[in-house]
Order: sequence, then structure tokens, then C-alpha cells
Amino acid sequence: MRFDFYLYVPLVHSHNDDRGCDISINNIQNKRNILITKIKPVVSSQDFWIWHHNKSGEYSVRSGYWLASRDQNYDLYQAAAALPSLNPIKDLIWTALAPSKIKVFMWKAISGAIPVTEKLASRGISLDQRCQICGFEGESINHLLFICTLARQVWALADIPSPENGFDGHSIYHNLHYILKLAKSSSVQDMIGKIKEDAVEWFLAQQIEEEETVKDIRHSAVSLPSWRPPDRPWLKCNLASTWDRVNRVGGAAWVLRNSSGVVLLHSRKSFALVDSKDEVDLQCWLWTIESMFSLKIRYVCFAVEACDLLQAVCRPAAWPSFKLQAELVSKALDFIPFWKLRKEDRKANKGALLIAKSVTLEDRRQSYVASGYPFWLKELFTEEMCVA
Ligand SMILES: [Zn+2]
Repeated sequence: MRFDFYLYVPLVHSHNDDRGCDISINNIQNKRNILITKIKPVVSSQDFWIWHHNKSGEYSVRSGYWLASRDQNYDLYQAAAALPSLNPIKDLIWTALAPSKIKVFMWKAISGAIPVTEKLASRGISLDQRCQICGFEGESINHLLFICTLARQVWALADIPSPENGFDGHSIYHNLHYILKLAKSSSVQDMIGKIKEDAVEWFLAQQIEEEETVKDIRHSAVSLPSWRPPDRPWLKCNLASTWDRVNRVGGAAWVLRNSSGVVLLHSRKSFALVDSKDEVDLQCWLWTIESMFSLKIRYVCFAVEACDLLQAVCRPAAWPSFKLQAELVSKALDFIPFWKLRKEDRKANKGALLIAKSVTLEDRRQSYVASGYPFWLKELFTEEMCVA
């Protein structure tokens, strides 16, 4: 790989002294080489080191630990990878008709995350290895849930048919799979009866706590993050982008509002041949800033949902991998006389997001700028203006 990189870099740069993206690709056909041309060097600064094992490019203890443990426990990882996948049984768990806490418990059981003595001992905690109920040596999750004398009694009382030859003495996967399959195949009538019982209990419980619940709902309605207008003379520009991985299409939108919450302008744009969400984010930011510049907006507050690019622009030193992107955004912002960045909650950014989504979900590829809000989002923007 390294050999290829050095081999093609002179080709890549031979016809272009800037970013190496405008090359003649006549001789370079395969996808890997084209990918190399997409890596744009940071021409404004000296070469610098980045940490390859996390996205930001800055070293973190977590990623360092991951790398060290991967090398040290190579055989263990290989052995684990060779075992059959647990994903099908985990899928069964998450789709089971059971309360979340039961699903989480089953997931923990199958993932070996119940602190039985066998598991504790494997982590160096020395304690009595026997089951404290039946005295069996080596208390495992399977023993605790299916084999222990008390567990057998519970299963018997629960009126759930046991497997033909009893529960498996060694495999928790086998036993849980049996239970999950049994739950799936139980008759619909039984299920409806159970649901009705649960529903009656639930409504009873609701009646008791009705007053408090009403209070809670009122409180949460007040504290929902909603769109806030900017102070005068600022204008607020909400921007959002979406990405369609399959068709490699990016959608972007911005909505510009004044301190009274009135939508002055909105715009939409589509981007073709986009290979990642990060790429759409960058294109969306640059296009929005450029739009504000050409509209001669002097005081603009850019409101955007949390993303890697926002963090990179706010803390460039912590995101060396995004140095080029952060620099491009900063340079574009230099053209705006007064600007600020604001992290917006998804709920408060909904208008811009829905317009951007219309590109990728409804294939609306025409780009435009228009005054006011789009007609189909009248209700949303009117509501946000009233809150403002
Ligand atoms: Zn036991």
C-alpha cells in the first residue's frame, strides 16, 4: 500500500500544483487510485503527525489501549472471531415481546455480563467458586439460570414446557435460543390475553399517578428544546445536510430568520458523487457561508447540529484529521463581517433538516433560493415563530 502511494503521488501532482484533485486520470483507472486523489493535502502548513486510530486524529488513551490490547491479545481476538456469531440470537432477544429490562438482562446473559463467580474468577477476583444455593462447583450463568435446583423449580412452576431432554448443562446459547423460539411460537390468543392483563394493570397504575404525570408532562413540554430567535441585529441561519449512501447524493439546506422568528429566506442544494457524510457537511457549510456572503448579511449566527466538523472548527488543535476542513471553513468565515456559531438541537433544527431531507428522500435535486419558508413546512415555521 505504501509502495502504491509513493508510486502514484508524482502522477497525481504532475498536472496540478495545488490540491492534486484536477489530475489527468487517463492512466489511473482503478478505484483505489481515485480514492488517493480524494485525500487533499493541507498546503498551508508543514507536514504534521496524526494518530491514525481514531477519527479526530489526536491520540486518546482509549484508542491507545485498544491498539495495545489488540496486538497483545492477537490470538484471543482470532479465536473469538472464529466462533459462530451471536448476532442471530441477539436479534431474537431484541425482537422478543418483553419489557426492555428483560431484554437487557437476556442480552447480558448471552454476552457473559452477569457477575457470577465463574466470570468474577476469570477477572482475578478470588472467592468461593461454589453455587451458594446448591453447592455446585463452578457457578456459571447457565447454571444460575437453568441448571441450579432453584432455577429448575422456577421453570417447573412457570408452566413453561422444558426441552425434551431437559436444559443443556453447558450451553447458555442453546437454552436461551430454546426459550426465545418458544416465546415466538406461543399462540396469538395467549399473547392477547397477556397483553390485556398487562394493559388493565398499566391503566390502574396510571390512575394512581395521574396527577404527578400531568405535572411531569407539562414540565417536559416547557423544557423541550425549541428554536430560539437571535438578538437584534443578528440573523440566525439554521443549516442542515443529509447523505444518501446508495446513490452518493448529498442534500443541504439553510433557513435564515430574524429576531422576530420571521423566515426571510431559505435555500436548498444537492451535491452529486458524495462519498461520506463528512464531505456533505463540509460542502453544506461552505455553500451556506458563501450564500450569506453574497447576500451581504453582516451579522449572522450559524446554527448547526453537533457534528465532527463543528468540533473541528471550534477546537482545531484537538482534530488534526480535520485540519483542512476546519481551515476551509475558517477562511470562508473571514468574508462574513460578524458571525458566531451555535450548536442547535435536532428538534430546533427540524425545518432546515426536512428541507435537506427532501433532496435525499424525495429526490428533489433542483437547487434554489426563495423568500419565506417552503409552503409544505408552513405549520412548523409558524409554530416556531409563535414560540419565538
Ligand atoms: Zn446452584
